[in-house]
Amino acid sequence: MNVLNTISDIRSALDNPRRQGKTIGLVPTMGALHEGHISLISEARATCDFVVVSIFVNPTQFGPNEDLDRYPRTPETDLEACRNAGVDYVFHPSANEMYPNPDFVRFNIVEMADHLCGFTRPGHFNGVLQVVNKFLQIVQPTDAWFGQKDIQQFILIETMAREFNIPVRIHRGETIRESDGLALSSRNRYLSESERGVAGSLYATLQFVSGTIWSSGAVGGGDHWTGEGRPDNKAVLPEEREESILADEQVLMRVIAEGKAMLTASGFKIDYLSVVDYSTLQPQNRIVSGRKYIVAAAGWLGKTRLIDNIIV
Ligand code: AMP
Repeated sequence: MNVLNTISDIRSALDNPRRQGKTIGLVPTMGALHEGHISLISEARATCDFVVVSIFVNPTQFGPNEDLDRYPRTPETDLEACRNAGVDYVFHPSANEMYPNPDFVRFNIVEMADHLCGFTRPGHFNGVLQVVNKFLQIVQPTDAWFGQKDIQQFILIETMAREFNIPVRIHRGETIRESDGLALSSRNRYLSESERGVAGSLYATLQFVSGTIWSSGAVGGGDHWTGEGRPDNKAVLPEEREESILADEQVLMRVIAEGKAMLTASGFKIDYLSVVDYSTLQPQNRIVSGRKYIVAAAGWLGKTRLIDNIIV
């Protein structure tokens, strides 16, 4: 495994493989690697001839009062983990290498960063797209992996690649979790023992919300919501199911309010708990069958912000 710190070094290392038509898989990370990262790396390893992992704590995606300075940095164990996972190249640039000059050109995301994390972290996704765009131009991978855990990030990167015609296949890796459902995150190490004890309720709440709406059919079915939200109070007929309303605005608001109460009871200070359309990332006021949605939440346990989501 080679560790390279400059753009020219990683470019020349990949020159030959690229000319020979080899596939190059990129996994961008901010380090402090855990099994979630390793799972993306393993997918890249299984798919591509060469695997590149970038480790860079990108300053442009942190807000002025965010945790840039205290973001965990564990370079030695990261390199060991990459070696064990069969990585070919680690690209580990300095901030100066990535941003030698002030940036004169920035991303302006229309609508898709107005909700979820984009709402409470203004400018965050501009910085994410800026750095991912740079990595895609520098490494020019055939394939790149991003985790579902950061679903808004994933969808924005997929959108950027499509709209900017970047010739790369973007893959989504599933969220890797602890046994109580807590999504692995570099920030989990900030949690105190008692915070860690309740952190699993974030995923449990998402399961409750998605389970209530999708499994039992919140409108006109299930014990809990019988008759709610369907004006004529009739059961949903099988032939209607293809396009039937699973939850109208009233039901959705009640399920979300219950979910928020669960999070608050566990000690979370809620940032958001929302159901958004998968491709537009816009909140919905009713849920219909046959469409793709994201049930997503973010909240604070003490000084640690946790996020998670379920795709339905
Ligand atoms: P980060 O180092 O937090 O910027 O994450 C680097 C990549 O790993 C991103 O694409 C994340 O979405 C992904 N990732 C982070 N946590 C997990 C997880 N628990 N499971 C799968 N992928 C993850």
